Amino acid sequence: MKINHILSFAFLFTLLFSCQSDQDSAAIEADSLVSNASDTLVQNGVELIVLGTVQDAGSPQINCKKECCIALFDQPDESRKVVSLGLVDHDHQTRYLLEATPDMVQQLNDLQNAAAVAKSDVPDGVFLTHGHIGHYTGLMYFGKEAMNAEQVPVFAMPRMADFLTTSGPWSQLVTRENIAINRIKQDSVIQLNQQLNITPILVPHRDEYSETVGFYIVGPNKSALFIPDIDKWTKWGEEKIYEWIKRVDYAFLDATFYDAEEINNRDITEIPHPFVVESFKTFEKLSKEEKAKIYFIHFNHTNPLLLKGSNAQMEVESKGFHFAEKGQRFSL
Ligand SMILES: [Zn+2]
Ligand SMILES: [Zn+2]
Ligand SMILES: [Zn+2]
Repeated sequence: MKINHILSFAFLFTLLFSCQSDQDSAAIEADSLVSNASDTLVQNGVELIVLGTVQDAGSPQINCKKECCIALFDQPDESRKVVSLGLVDHDHQTRYLLEATPDMVQQLNDLQNAAAVAKSDVPDGVFLTHGHIGHYTGLMYFGKEAMNAEQVPVFAMPRMADFLTTSGPWSQLVTRENIAINRIKQDSVIQLNQQLNITPILVPHRDEYSETVGFYIVGPNKSALFIPDIDKWTKWGEEKIYEWIKRVDYAFLDATFYDAEEINNRDITEIPHPFVVESFKTFEKLSKEEKAKIYFIHFNHTNPLLLKGSNAQMEVESKGFHFAEKGQRFSL
């Protein structure tokens, strides 16, 4: 008992001491903000933030008994969130969400923290690529059982918009005006303000309920391409993706599977995603500068690109490409 008391005191003392030092450093930061009185310490412009990198079903994946997930059921990895990007326009104090994932609750909080403006977690707009579970079901959190939001702007392609307005439970979000659907068109620019715009680009994918798009995002200085799901590059046309990579500064591209080992050595040509090892070949001819624009994303739970320090991560980097990680921030 006595020892316990001593330990609690020691703990309390450490806690008090560490709180004190946190306050000190916060004060120093605040001081320097005032004394510099310049905008060097104030965030400005547009930032793109990686809010998640995992394929629709997340990680750990339901019923996975394999090494990739087994330990994660007891000890979840906070960095494993379903694929999503956030956009923060610091100059206009607005923020946008690309994809409404099942992890949206945490992701909107992350986006809000990055935006550093005293507003709610409700974004100024949500952009949806398509109707597969990892890309739109987070919309449920805007509904009556959760935050009962008011007219959150949701940007969706025509078939996706029809799907949401005609099928329950999504249609309830529309009739109760928790969300306000903005119909978007392929290749048609959505001007969010004078320095930020987004354009949907149609891509081939498994389109049961909606068409599938990627997004071309243009900020005041740089631009990015986001294609989390696509069939093989050859099906879309390799020339198209080469042109896009030339045009943008960053390209976040579908990397659901790494190689055949992950799918028990089945024929990778049968699986409708560009495997990372296939993308290596497709992008082999690009220059060093162009390769460096590519950030692989949308990793299946089996994908070794989720493992810190894996051979796969090293191979991607050694070939001059990158892989997306939650929390990465890019100035646009
Ligand atoms: Zn997906
Ligand atoms: Zn797994
Ligand atoms: Zn999909």
